Parts: sequence; C-alpha cells; structure tokens
Amino acid sequence: MRLGIDIGGTKIEAAALDADGTIRARRRLPTPAGDYPGIIATVGALVTGIEAELAAELGPAEAIGVGIPGMLSPATGLVKNANSTCLIGRPFDRDLAAALGRPVRLANDANCFALSEAVDGAAQGAGLVFGVILGTGVGGGIVVDGRVLTGRNAIAGEWGHSPLPWPQDDERPGAPCYCGKRGCTETYLNGAGLGRAYEALTGRPADAADIAARAESGEAAAQAALARYADRLARALATVINLLDPEIIVLGGGLGQIAALYRDVPARWGEYVFSDRVATRLVPPRWGDSSGVRGAAWLWS
Ligand SMILES: [Zn+2]
Repeated sequence: MRLGIDIGGTKIEAAALDADGTIRARRRLPTPAGDYPGIIATVGALVTGIEAELAAELGPAEAIGVGIPGMLSPATGLVKNANSTCLIGRPFDRDLAAALGRPVRLANDANCFALSEAVDGAAQGAGLVFGVILGTGVGGGIVVDGRVLTGRNAIAGEWGHSPLPWPQDDERPGAPCYCGKRGCTETYLNGAGLGRAYEALTGRPADAADIAARAESGEAAAQAALARYADRLARALATVINLLDPEIIVLGGGLGQIAALYRDVPARWGEYVFSDRVATRLVPPRWGDSSGVRGAAWLWS
C-alpha cells in the first residue's frame, strides 16, 4: 500500500492508497500544538492504526510520504518556512523515519497538492502544472511530467512571498507580512486579504466564505471586494504564466472553492500576460481536501 500523511495546523491526516490510487483507509487526529515529540507520536499512532486495519490485505507500507507546511532546507537538512513553527529547525524526516522504522520522504504541502492533481486529478495528463493553495497562507507547487519540481533552495513555486505585481497606489507599500516584508502577494490573496478588501469598502469584517456567499446573493460591496480579489489574483498568476507558462493552474485551499474565480480571473489575466492569447486553463481541484494525503502518498512513485 501507499501511505500518505498530511501534517496540518489543526489536524494530522493519514490515508492508505491501493495500487489504483483508491483511498482504502483514512484516519485523522488533532495536531498536538507546539509539541514536536507529540506530532511524531501522533503520526506513529495513525500509521499503526491504518496498518492494523489493512496490512493483512495490502501488506505493510514500505515507505511513507509526508506533506508539511514548510520544507526541508537543502542547506541544513532541517525544516524551514513552516507555519507549524515547532517543526522549524528539526530533522523531521530523519526523526520520523527512526520512529516509523522505514524511509520517509517529506514535501511541501502545496507540492503534494499539485502532485495529487497532476497524477490523477484535475490536471491529469498535463505536462506542466501549477498548483495553488489559497487559504490562511498562499503557496504553490510545480509538477513537470508527473514529478514535483523542488528547486535548488526547495522553494520552487513559492509565489506568495513575492510582491503583488502592477500595484495600484492604494496597494503600496501593503500590509506587513510575517516573513518580514510588506505587500507580499500572500497578504492580498489569503483569506485575511479578501477580508481586508471587504472591510475597506464596508467598515465591517467578514470571512472569505461569508463574502463569497454575500456576493452570490447580490450584495454590491461583496461583489466589489471579490472583483478586486480576482484582479489581484489575475495579476499574480500572470507573472507565474509569464515565467512558467503552465498548461493548467489548479486552485486549492478554502478560497479555491469560490466558483466565480474560475470565470473572473481568466477574463482578466489576458490584460497582464505577455501573449496574444492565454490558453492556460484555470480549474478547481478534483480531490479537494484529500489532495494533501494523496500527493504525499504519491511521493514515492
Ligand atoms: Zn511575505
């Protein structure tokens, strides 16, 4: 069996896939907040539970793939850029391999998402795929011919901490970002960024799902906030298209569920992309919340 683990900020999920890619078992437990040994023990408990359920039928998992909100630094071999900060500076792959008694491959969660959608999801068959996470953070992953592009610094696809392109006057210098800069793309395109666009128009806070629902029901301010968000997303994706020229871009994360984006962003990005036509397709994910564990399970293919 293929075993994939997705380490999230609130939950850790494990899933076993059979040779066809069908999920045969799935378990989740809360993430022990700020507790590094607790996270390793939780992963161990999930693996033990799934193997007890399925090993007789599918055999043991010889290797395990793990998606994390961060990545291993090629310079140090330790986790960096993780918003589950207790992982930062730890040899998480080696510690997990020792605890689980078998090889472990770690990858960034956005890379797992992109891989899952490229292997047998919304981008199946595409040669070059950009997978986007639009949620609490903004991440991205690149898959070329079915393989994750990690990069020399393990940051390939990390478009969220580059500045928002073609900024308008009221977008400079932009909100402070946790990375230490201002005006990062993430600060405009995460859930809080959409919330700020709405609050700027109405004086009232609202979360992203609420704004999308209000826009659907015809509230003008919500529609205006979402239109501004779509224009920012179009600008940011235009620079990705100029650099990578992917066949398909898949939007994951909570904001990827906003249906209007799949119409409004391609309607706007032609203004920014350096091309006469834009044939790149923008699509919703096939696997949604399951893409993290699925992509982690595919890391050993
Ligand atoms: Zn930043």
